[in-house]
Amino acid sequence: MTTEHFDVLIVGAGISGVGAAYHLQDQCPDKSYVILEGLESFGGTWWMHRYPGIRSDSDLYTFGYRFKPWTGAPIATAGEILSYMGEVIEENRIDQHIRYNHWIETADWDSKTSLWTITGKRKDTGEAVSFTANFLWMCQGYYKHAEGYTPEWEGMADFKGTIVHPQTWPEDLDYKDKNVLVIGSGATTATVVPAMAGDCKHITVLQRSPTYFAPGRNENDTAEYLRKLEVDESWIHEIVRREILYNQEEFTRRAIEKPDEVKKELLDGVRAFLPEGYDVDTHFTPKYRPWQQRLAFVPDGDIFKGIAAGKATMVTDHIDRFTEKGVLLKSGQELEADIIVTATGFNLCVLGDIAFSVDGQSVDFSDTVTYRGMMFTGVPNMVWIFGYFRASWTLRVDLIGDFVCRLLKYMDEHGYSAVTPQLPEDRQGEQRLCWIDEKNFNPNYLKRSMHLMPRRLDDPEWQHTQDYWREKEDIPAIQLDDEVFRYQAV
Ligand SMILES: Cc1cc2nc3c(=O)[nH]c(=O)nc-3n(C[C@H](O)[C@H](O)[C@H](O)COP(=O)(O)OP(=O)(O)OC[C@H]3O[C@@H](n4cnc5c(N)ncnc54)[C@H](O)[C@@H]3O)c2cc1C
Repeated sequence: MTTEHFDVLIVGAGISGVGAAYHLQDQCPDKSYVILEGLESFGGTWWMHRYPGIRSDSDLYTFGYRFKPWTGAPIATAGEILSYMGEVIEENRIDQHIRYNHWIETADWDSKTSLWTITGKRKDTGEAVSFTANFLWMCQGYYKHAEGYTPEWEGMADFKGTIVHPQTWPEDLDYKDKNVLVIGSGATTATVVPAMAGDCKHITVLQRSPTYFAPGRNENDTAEYLRKLEVDESWIHEIVRREILYNQEEFTRRAIEKPDEVKKELLDGVRAFLPEGYDVDTHFTPKYRPWQQRLAFVPDGDIFKGIAAGKATMVTDHIDRFTEKGVLLKSGQELEADIIVTATGFNLCVLGDIAFSVDGQSVDFSDTVTYRGMMFTGVPNMVWIFGYFRASWTLRVDLIGDFVCRLLKYMDEHGYSAVTPQLPEDRQGEQRLCWIDEKNFNPNYLKRSMHLMPRRLDDPEWQHTQDYWREKEDIPAIQLDDEVFRYQAV
């Protein structure tokens, strides 16, 4: 086995890894780099998910990169996102740097040489692979790609129909004229239900508790108007991004300061699509305040149209057990189905399930404290892109891209070979809190796996704030000679 060396090694060719590569070759053209991707193609989330209707729930003006104009409707299908990413890869000749089917298993840091050694396996040939790199840029996402999260319900084995998880959708699943039951009511449900409703006999959504939905038109008036004026697409991209980000900031502020007012607006928006007297209180009024979980955008209110037309039904109840025919609820009602879709979320995954070590000591990330949700105490020359949930994920790809390139140049200028974030002396004894404050953001997949995640302290510097508007000022202003960065030269 030969070991190849690169200045920077990027794990993952999803929207984060491709964005990282763009920034690196744009801002640090002298650095050699490789992207190692476990799948046979690029796209990550957008390549793997194949369920009917798969689309973004963020607008692509902000989910797209800042450097590549988005010219379509704001909400895009997975196919459209993949074409957009394909163009970025081709236009910037990133393809020659990507190695597909390379599944990474270990990453070992050696302080004597200031090098990472990365090993893994080729999924197509089974061959072992080995690389060394000065800097590791982790863009492997945040959930297990092999399978989604399905709770263990009693009697599941008794069910005579088919159970599918959206993350591993069978290509040949025939749901025409079938009774379908979807368990869960997040963004995936909001996508899959309208996409299937036209073909299946009936579709029922079973939720334990409601989710906030934000219906809206899948158009952007500003973009359309500027196009009429034949304004250059790169200007339109920038202007529309600013408009959307301004509106989102306002919305987030209002959701925090005036949650009742925002809640009423959201519920009125839902009511407008539903028949008079529909029980919005039971099925569409969440217990949490708006923005404590990701808001599911519903383009053109399509899920509600299915409900209004009698093709889809909402049920808010708890599962007692599965039966041969479907699901028995705590209320005693039985929901019969041919197909059950468990839209019950992800299994969170910390750093791609890669076994990390530093100087022979294995790293347990829950023993580390995160520097701004991107670096980790005691782990040198490594950054993880964990994007935003309340704003588009990709906004953080661009911000962290700039930061890493600035850091790499700074290290070169000063002859440093390694940088490790460290807690200042007087903060070492501070209470270590879990990755994210539950009061701030509390989706179940995070709550379930919080114990695996790195810790945080109670200030923006030592946590992932999930606050794009703050970070867009703070990250570019980071002082690289600050005491939190411990540098080393070999
Ligand atoms: C269905 C769905 C819809 C979403 N919609 C939105 C949205 O509209 N807006 C939004 O902001 N966010 C959305 N998200 C969140 C979404 O995951 C991110 O926005 C974004 O696509 C993540 O990109 P990424 O490149 O960081 O990770 P991923 O897309 O997860 O890609 C990571 C890549 O790394 C590879 N990889 C992982 N581990 C290894 C390893 N050990 N070795 C080699 N390769 C590895 C994977 O194969 C994968 O290709 C959505 C998520 C899902 C699941």
